[in-house]
Amino acid sequence: MTREELEAADMKHVWHPFTQADEWEASPPLIVESAQGAVLRDIDGREYLDGVASLWVGVHGHRHPHVDAAVRAQLDRVAHSTLLGITNQPAVALAAALCERTGYDRVFYSDCGSAAVEIAIKLAFQWQQQRGETQRTQVAGLRHAYHGDTLGAVSVGGIDLFHAVYRPLLFDALHLPCPADREDEEALAAQAVAMIREAGDTLAVLAVEPFVQGAAGMRMHTAAYLEPVMAAAHEVGALVIADEVAVGLGRLERFLATENTRTRPDLVCLGKGLSNGYLPLAATLATEALYDGFREGYGRTFFHGHTFTGNPLACAAGLACLELFESENTLEHARSLSSHLAELLASPMPHALSVRRQGLMAAIDLEPVLGPRTGHQVCMAARDRGLLLRPLGDTLVLMPPLCMSKEQLTMVFAALTSTLGTV
Ligand code: PMP
Repeated sequence: MTREELEAADMKHVWHPFTQADEWEASPPLIVESAQGAVLRDIDGREYLDGVASLWVGVHGHRHPHVDAAVRAQLDRVAHSTLLGITNQPAVALAAALCERTGYDRVFYSDCGSAAVEIAIKLAFQWQQQRGETQRTQVAGLRHAYHGDTLGAVSVGGIDLFHAVYRPLLFDALHLPCPADREDEEALAAQAVAMIREAGDTLAVLAVEPFVQGAAGMRMHTAAYLEPVMAAAHEVGALVIADEVAVGLGRLERFLATENTRTRPDLVCLGKGLSNGYLPLAATLATEALYDGFREGYGRTFFHGHTFTGNPLACAAGLACLELFESENTLEHARSLSSHLAELLASPMPHALSVRRQGLMAAIDLEPVLGPRTGHQVCMAARDRGLLLRPLGDTLVLMPPLCMSKEQLTMVFAALTSTLGTV
């Protein structure tokens, strides 16, 4: 298909996620044709530095030879078989490797972050019910958290802009106050702890989006807030879910972000970078104590599963990615890249109201110099300078893939500063 044919067919037939229809149709689309490492190339041959890791996904980079080879080798064996009642080599190997890496005992696979969170909520709820705590019917979450777009994940999350319209369809969750930018951490933690204690033995589970609430505009808190809140949930007998779909897998310099907390969550949700974006793959990690609650009788089964749960091709990609954390010292590089990011952010930038960062997750709040949708317009202008970004309102998100070189990150900032200088 030519560019014109693709554009016409896209406008006619594709429904883009989180995209305003009229705005989409108003300008020619960027059509990605190929990629390498941290660079995407469009159908017209223009190259773009991937400043948001293809929506917070990229870890090892596009077309990594080790992952390519693993997927190709798996294609010669089997691309899909179910995990319902039978098993397969890549699903077993990846589960074992993930457990060894994280210290968790069990892996429940799915194919997107929203599903990983739904699974965690349902597992926690059913576990409480099966141990006789039938009064524990409440689920708590943090205000402004985003856990995905399925209705359970939306009920526990708290982003009105995306989700207010669905309110009549949602279940009631207890939404705890949470800081915007490390402010009032102790006071807000105290309020959240008080709400958890009040819920007491009616609380089944608390879900947190730890350290960085990405979709809410990169709101940040530290362990000074998170630690007492998670500990309070445990004190009242509730389970804790850490949604690490965005913050996990090295983005905050550790394999799991909650390795930075003393309280260990009972369930951890991973997605996005788990397969480096090669194939849809997500996982809910759980402890053996949880798994044990589902033994002894058919009635205790977890009646949940997706068609592509444990898909061999996706798991082969996931296993290859996990191997790269060792062979390429991914975390070490992430740490040095995040110090470089900190240095770059310290330089003044035109029209920046404030800047914040944790690890390789950074945000720049812009003055609304171009009126409504300044963030969107800046991102469109950045494309002309070979930089691909996606804003959250007037907040620019910078989330480079972990594999990006320091030189490339410097180029990201040069392109951004020059874009902002001209708006
Ligand atoms: N949780 C968090 C913290 C996320 O950032 C996202 C996606 N941005 C999700 C869950 C949902 O993941 P998915 O889009 O793969 O369903």
